[in-house]
Amino acid sequence: MADAAKVQNFELDLDEQAYGDDPLADRETDLYRGEYVMSFVEKWDELIDWRGRAESEGQFFIDILRARGKETVLDVAAGTGFHSVRLTEAGFNVTTADGSAAMVAKAFENGQARGLILKTVQADWRWLNRDIQGKYDAIICLGNSFTHLHEEHDRRRALAEFYAALKHDGILILDQRNYDAMLDHGFSTKHKYYYCGDRVTAEPEHVDEGLCRMKYSFPDGSDYTLNMCPIRKNYVRRLLTEAGFARVRTYGDFQETYAEDEPDFFIHVAEKS
Ligand code: SAM
Repeated sequence: MADAAKVQNFELDLDEQAYGDDPLADRETDLYRGEYVMSFVEKWDELIDWRGRAESEGQFFIDILRARGKETVLDVAAGTGFHSVRLTEAGFNVTTADGSAAMVAKAFENGQARGLILKTVQADWRWLNRDIQGKYDAIICLGNSFTHLHEEHDRRRALAEFYAALKHDGILILDQRNYDAMLDHGFSTKHKYYYCGDRVTAEPEHVDEGLCRMKYSFPDGSDYTLNMCPIRKNYVRRLLTEAGFARVRTYGDFQETYAEDEPDFFIHVAEKS
């Protein structure tokens, strides 16, 4: 496990998002490192509005983990630590990981502000088991993070690493935006779930079969973008099955039953056995 002091000493002073001359052509898995610059990371909490988000998702993840008797949780896309903090406060034994040093440092800081010392580690999913130790009861990969992977071989590789980091009866909880609805019918959101505090707007600037470029605009006039890959629900379910998971159940905005076009987010719960 990386110690926190070491994590906090990483270079965190990059301030410009790193896109090429034609940002719509930037469709590589490694792009995320240059997208989460420090100023964006600092704004992320404003963006995701912790209290509103906690109210929206309620006990959903806690109930799923408790119902299956899970205790050790690896948060592989911790971001600023929202779920790591919530699950630690709920009594789970959480390890907080992210591929971005800036995010790991921010998560640690957010934990500290709430009187928690999060166990943090910087780890890219593609080499996860090189950087983490032991096997976990559950892995969570939330906040649409998995769709940062632009290439199929990276998705398969990440899922293989998640699978290997789980105990024999472990579960993976992975969510994604409802890109099917976006690709088939255009973008709409009820602005209820996840990111949006009411002072921040999140909208797709460009959508095609290979790219969803989201733009986040802040009240101070600044805006940031994320180039995500708009992967479809059934494609992700297939990848999970092909990675070896025995059962995959997909919820829509935390509900078991839903009309396909309705949810903003799908949440896949994949069980190893
Ligand atoms: N889960 C957090 C939340 O919901 O607020 C953060 C979500 S943010 C959209 C996506 C996170 O995934 C970022 O913190 C980013 O650094 C991380 N990430 C993206 N690609 C990654 C990779 N290949 N390996 C590890 N982390 C990655």
